[in-house]
Amino acid sequence: MKDHYRTWIRDIPDFPKQGILFRDITPLLGNGAVYRDAIQALAVKAEEWKPELVVGPEARGYVVGAPLAVTLGLGFVPVRKPGKLPYKTVSVEYALEYGTDRLEIHEDAIQPGQRVVVADDLLATGGTMRATMDLVEKLGGVVVGAAFLIELKQLGGRDRLGDIPVYTLVQFD
Ligand code: AMP
Repeated sequence: MKDHYRTWIRDIPDFPKQGILFRDITPLLGNGAVYRDAIQALAVKAEEWKPELVVGPEARGYVVGAPLAVTLGLGFVPVRKPGKLPYKTVSVEYALEYGTDRLEIHEDAIQPGQRVVVADDLLATGGTMRATMDLVEKLGGVVVGAAFLIELKQLGGRDRLGDIPVYTLVQFD
């Protein structure tokens, strides 16, 4: 069944730059039944972690995290690039291949002790998700699991997320 999802992910060589093989999820998103089943599969696993909230980074973290939250009957909290969130924020800086970037969350988005599932479309080096988890933890939330549609195994992103359970629907070597 998991292999079925692979056929709905399109490979785009050299996007957004030379040497990157971009895993394009728009074919999966564009098919209602496949999109629904993929989110449902993540939800079945995430439910085991007994979450109270879902948090996802912009932008593709929203197309996974928000429907996951709705399926679980939970709220969704967006993590954004600097200057986009309207209320008071907490931020973290994280390393990119060249230089650094920053992500933000509303300071009142999570209650201390709340059990949080973090979600994104794809786990590569894990930098984006590590930063997202750091934001959750800064607010006193407890990350109980991470869910992704895709994992690029060679980049070892899982190792950066610590002890939490990590569930990915499709893996590429
Ligand atoms: P990372 O922080 O290295 O784990 O990268 C994960 C983030 O970058 C996710 O939000 C993805 O949407 C995006 N990303 C990284 N590599 C790829 C790729 N090969 N194809 C599509 N998206 C990617």
